[in-house]
Amino acid sequence: MKKYEKKRNQKIFEVLLILKSIYLLMALVALTSTVDINKIDNPITVAVSAIGVLLFMITYFMLVVYYHKHFVDRCNRIAKVIEIIILLFIFTTIVMFTGGNESPYKFICIFIVLISTIQFGEKHSIITALILSLELILIDFMMSPNKETLSIYFERDLVLIASLLVTAFILSMYVNIEVEYSKDLKRLANVDELTGLFNHRYLQQQLTKVIKDSEEKKENASLLFMDIDYFKNYNDINGHQHGDWVLKKIGIILKESVRENDIVARYGGEEFVAILPNTDKNTAIEIGEKIRKTIEDTYFYAQENQPDENMTISVGVSCYPENGKSKHELINAADDALYRAKFFNKNRVEAYYSVLDEVDDSLYINEKIKKSLKAFISMINKKDKYTYGHTERVVIYSKWFAEFLGLSEEEKIDIKLAAYLHDIGKVELPEELLNKRTKLTDDEFSKIKEHPVVSAELIESMKPFERLTPVVKYHHERYDGRGYPDKLEGEKIPYLSRIITIADSFDAMTSHRPYNFRKSRDEAIEELRNNAGTQFDPALVEKFISMLEKYSDKI
Ligand code: GH3
Ligand code: MG
Ligand code: MG
Repeated sequence: MKKYEKKRNQKIFEVLLILKSIYLLMALVALTSTVDINKIDNPITVAVSAIGVLLFMITYFMLVVYYHKHFVDRCNRIAKVIEIIILLFIFTTIVMFTGGNESPYKFICIFIVLISTIQFGEKHSIITALILSLELILIDFMMSPNKETLSIYFERDLVLIASLLVTAFILSMYVNIEVEYSKDLKRLANVDELTGLFNHRYLQQQLTKVIKDSEEKKENASLLFMDIDYFKNYNDINGHQHGDWVLKKIGIILKESVRENDIVARYGGEEFVAILPNTDKNTAIEIGEKIRKTIEDTYFYAQENQPDENMTISVGVSCYPENGKSKHELINAADDALYRAKFFNKNRVEAYYSVLDEVDDSLYINEKIKKSLKAFISMINKKDKYTYGHTERVVIYSKWFAEFLGLSEEEKIDIKLAAYLHDIGKVELPEELLNKRTKLTDDEFSKIKEHPVVSAELIESMKPFERLTPVVKYHHERYDGRGYPDKLEGEKIPYLSRIITIADSFDAMTSHRPYNFRKSRDEAIEELRNNAGTQFDPALVEKFISMLEKYSDKI
């Protein structure tokens, strides 16, 4: 649309340039007509005057072109008004020099009306026409020696005045139509046809703008990422047309739920985004919660056939600048939060959380390290699409577990970091292997089994995480000594590793995997109990289950 607008402005500029050129040429012709060739006694004065006029015209055009090139997108109204005043001044001078009321060049004022109408539209065009009419009448009254002359020229000028007004009126009507049409086109280009919300393209533009503004004003801004729950199921049962009605209705709810300056857009299919300028994380969560609740409480046709017998939406929240300073980072963070909301039973609002943001600088983890680690995890998340968000969820389970067990503050940080880093060795594994649906061959399995060692090696090379190396290296050991890589047994396996093993396995059981079906929470608990003493530390298993009970409302 910007390209279209630029092209349109360029075309208008060209028309104006032609009009201005003709006007100035006419003015020049009018001026030269005042010179009587026979009376020229000093040709040098004439030549100097001609060069002066020519220089004025060249400077004027250069100024016009320069201004258009550099300030066309900005507010240059004042410059344009000044230009009209200059054109009016030139007109007055020409008329005075070419005979005042008798001047045959009065008609060139019609160009000023044309220029003013195209540049400013209706209001200014009528004002300019009125000013010119008044000027013509004044010249006639002031310069006519008697009533007869006055009536002759006044009559002629009345025709000119009528033409000026009709031109101003008709042309401004046409300009109005064109402006309205452009506005409609612009609006259509920014709006999603089905829901009437803004579209993806407009959202991207606005997000860039809001981030820039927030940076300048040192304000927060938040982003809500929303995705309808089980919408494929709804379409499959009720058909796409009913699905479209749901999208429309949700569009209306979203518009009504946000504040005046918020921007809501349809991001794609059944995903929506709201940009909340000057909004902190807590307010954003409140707005997300209001949206979630309204949709939960609204009746949608045939919603009783949905898995939860209701139409619901999940919301992910991210906040500028704490979760990201660029558009890309903010969108990724909100998307991550949304996936977590989806995982924890959907129909909920989740704010972006990364354990790295909790760790303070005393651990020498600077922004650069944090950024590259986040990039690592996001790379793994993208490769391993079946377990999207797995790492962050293991962090959350480990965090809750550490609190439940009453670990020291230092251990709490260590377990969260180790949980965060436990799979980074997977970055070296090919995507096909991570997403393979059929049973793995022995060769492939041994490749997968290398990842704890690779993770440990990567961590060992990073000073702030060095001490976590054994915790990460042994997160696939088994309590009975049949695990990998070193077949450690029982208490020889680091305590924090034994905790992560349980959190890791619980998440693997309860999320979609390429090679098996997702287990319910109770099935996963049963599986943990069945393997207590063989795969898992039996004492920790029972505590983990008690912890799940405590946090059951969050899962
Ligand atoms: P989840 O709860 O995990 O989000 O599950 P889901 O079924 O909603 O998720 P998924 O993203 O797999 O499905 C999105 C579905 O949205 C697929 C498609 O049927 C539907 N959809 C996307 N765009 C439109 C649209 O314009 N109209 C209609 N009616 N359906 C759409
Ligand atoms: Mg979706
Ligand atoms: Mg969905």
